[in-house]
Amino acid sequence: DFIQMSVRKFRGEDKEEELVIDYVSKNVNNMTVNMPYQCFINGQFINADDGKTYDTINPADGSIIASVSSASLADVDKAVAAAKEAFENGEWGRMNAILRGNLMLQLLADLMEEHQEELATIESIDSGAVYTLALKTHVGMSVQTFRYFAGWCDKIQGATIPINQARPNHNLTFTKKEPIGVCAIVIPWNYPLMMLAWKSAACLAAGNTLVLKPAQVTPLTSLKFAELSAKAGFPKGVINILPGSGGLVGQHLSEHPDVRKVGFTGSTPTGKQIMKSAATNLKKVSLELGGKSPLIIFSDCELDRAVKMGMGAVYFNKGENCIAAGRLFVEESIHDEFVSKVVEEIKKMKIGDPLDRSTDHGPQNHKAHLEKLLQYCETGLKEGATLVCGGRQVRRPGFFMEPTVFTDVEDHMYIAQEESFGPVMVISKFKNGDVDGVLRRANTTEYGLASGVFTKDISKALYISEKLEAGTVFINTYNKTDVAAPFGGFKQSGFGKDLGEEALHEYLRTKAITVEY
Ligand code: NAP
Ligand code: MG
Repeated sequence: DFIQMSVRKFRGEDKEEELVIDYVSKNVNNMTVNMPYQCFINGQFINADDGKTYDTINPADGSIIASVSSASLADVDKAVAAAKEAFENGEWGRMNAILRGNLMLQLLADLMEEHQEELATIESIDSGAVYTLALKTHVGMSVQTFRYFAGWCDKIQGATIPINQARPNHNLTFTKKEPIGVCAIVIPWNYPLMMLAWKSAACLAAGNTLVLKPAQVTPLTSLKFAELSAKAGFPKGVINILPGSGGLVGQHLSEHPDVRKVGFTGSTPTGKQIMKSAATNLKKVSLELGGKSPLIIFSDCELDRAVKMGMGAVYFNKGENCIAAGRLFVEESIHDEFVSKVVEEIKKMKIGDPLDRSTDHGPQNHKAHLEKLLQYCETGLKEGATLVCGGRQVRRPGFFMEPTVFTDVEDHMYIAQEESFGPVMVISKFKNGDVDGVLRRANTTEYGLASGVFTKDISKALYISEKLEAGTVFINTYNKTDVAAPFGGFKQSGFGKDLGEEALHEYLRTKAITVEY
């Protein structure tokens, strides 16, 4: 079609290089999925420089899906050099903004949508995401994110600024928003494709080139994305994907002198390490880190809605959700009823094969994570919290964990303070009517990613939203993220936004130009 033709014409047919892809293919979920497993550098799939590989595992049964290239330091240098060349001298930098937008909007996003079942299946087997959720959220929101940011490409504008005139002459100052250059993106395993999309879409819309490192445990949708981006017509070197270790690949990217920006999502300790590494050449950084998001439920709420949403706040994506409600504060007068309703609902949850369309709750992402969660529950018990249900591994192959509820959780306890990142509901009571007391407790955390409140009293809701120290506040809803709304934390949950217009500016720099005439 027209767009494809314009891209081809722009690139010149003769420049079209044959993309050679070696796949690991599997018949699964009533389809054949073709999975690239090598590093994607400068538009080509290639083995790691030193030939190293590692196995990626399906958490539903512990089986090996594929042996994936494990990038070396030399691969990082190659990928950064390719991204630098593509940024400085490639066709990417000369491409019209409208064409760049169309490349993202139509060629890439449409191709991702055409492959949504395959992408969702790969995501499901690699990360344990329930297929129906993978299709709607992991893949669906990724496509939306590329469409949303595509719209920004030709709307990146500066300003004209009235400065003091150098009389008798005149001056004109205007600003230009420029891409930063080579960006490194390092992401976690909970929403492998969506985390890639949230960061890459803003980064590319701004006109940068990138080198992305997926989490070791979930590399496959990133590599499938690399294939689709090449097929969509992205010039070589614009997008490079390096599966491999954080301590090696992530660290080297964060320290690399030719990388000018790091976008990171993951844990707070790693975020701090990245900030230190980035100091080597004063890279711009944005960090989306851990959370322990409070959810306050008042007795004047719509109880059934609060139960339903409260459960989603904790158990969505098996609790592997950055904004998961890490702690629920329930007003004393409805506390017992709330808990018993939650337990009733948990009994109805279907735990099982994530590819089964009726499954509600799949396996945890990987074995070490499951083990950490079981340990977390042990700690809760030892500290004297009441385990109302769950707390154990499910007796079946794979890394499944029972949806868990703890009550009588006191402020000093480890489980009141630390994130589980799993299907663990941590409930504390608060005294009837004690709005300021519960607010103080909700804010007594170094995290500040998200928060929520359920009440029909709009004044109380708005007061609470004003006082909560968190980058996101949900009122009478939860998990309502949208591509157009800025997403990111306060305090030790990091800084810099994903999504929305603000995310675009994380990947731009402002140049002020002054003319005298
Ligand atoms: P993590 O260790 O921070 O890993 C996130 C990413 O950073 C991975 O790709 C990791 O590589 C990489 N990395 C590790 N060390 C690095 C270094 N020195 N320099 C650069 N990159 C490095 O987090 P995780 O192990 O995935 O999860 C641990 C905890 O992080 C969770 O339990 C949760 O508390 C938090 N978390 C938060 C979010 C969020 O969205 N806010 C998402 C996921 C996890 P590897 O693949 O080698 O580990
Ligand atoms: Mg895996």
